[in-house]
Amino acid sequence: MKPLGIFGGTFDPIHYGHLRTAFELLQVLDLDELRFVPAGSPPHRDVPLAEAGLRLALVRAAIDGQPGFAVDDREVNRVGPSYTVATLTELRAEFPRRPLCLVVGMDAFLGLPKWHQWRDILQLAHVAVAHRPGWRTPTAGPLGELLQDRSTSRVPDLHDALAGRIFVHPVTQLEISSTDLRNIIVSGRDPRYLVPDAVRDIIRETGCYTSKTTR
Ligand code: ATP
Ligand code: MG
Repeated sequence: MKPLGIFGGTFDPIHYGHLRTAFELLQVLDLDELRFVPAGSPPHRDVPLAEAGLRLALVRAAIDGQPGFAVDDREVNRVGPSYTVATLTELRAEFPRRPLCLVVGMDAFLGLPKWHQWRDILQLAHVAVAHRPGWRTPTAGPLGELLQDRSTSRVPDLHDALAGRIFVHPVTQLEISSTDLRNIIVSGRDPRYLVPDAVRDIIRETGCYTSKTTR
């Protein structure tokens, strides 16, 4: 069975850096499904600007019509912090024999040792790391050691085992971040060509990054 891809994030808002990364990994990892999992209450950062239901709607609009892309709303509906380990535990129970593959950018991977029960994550899933501009692959420390033990450049390794391998892959470098997008929008500039038009339309209609009432 092909691995299930899981792409978590705050997606405040989703942008082409997320979409292109997910699309390249969908193909490279030979997945038939990659799920975007917007965080309800991300544990390691400020409260998102747009509320969870709206961030979910932006993700839905962004991936509409793309075969293999799906949205999973479990973290938005969960009460309490959006721990990835809880999401993976649930997915493992739903798919006992399907490899799971968590997709993260290199910046997120570098923060992995701060995640709740982070060592359990590799018992539950593989981790596919997308290079992001400005970040280096760790060679020392707990992540350096983990990479020495677990890394593979062979896609079949991710299909043959249920969990436990790390696959680092350079994706097309798109220097887009949600932080920059929020700043662009709040200062009255247009985010066109950084986000899908459908996402831009919802952002304009709701004023979710310009009005303070949506927090
Ligand atoms: P923020 O600026 O609010 O942190 P972000 O653009 O980093 O937003 P997140 O929702 O924090 O987006 O990221 C979700 C996941 O997508 C993370 O694993 C992150 O590393 C990855 N990611 C974000 N932007 C890019 C990009 N431009 N290229 C590749 N991966 C990205
Ligand atoms: Mg980020």
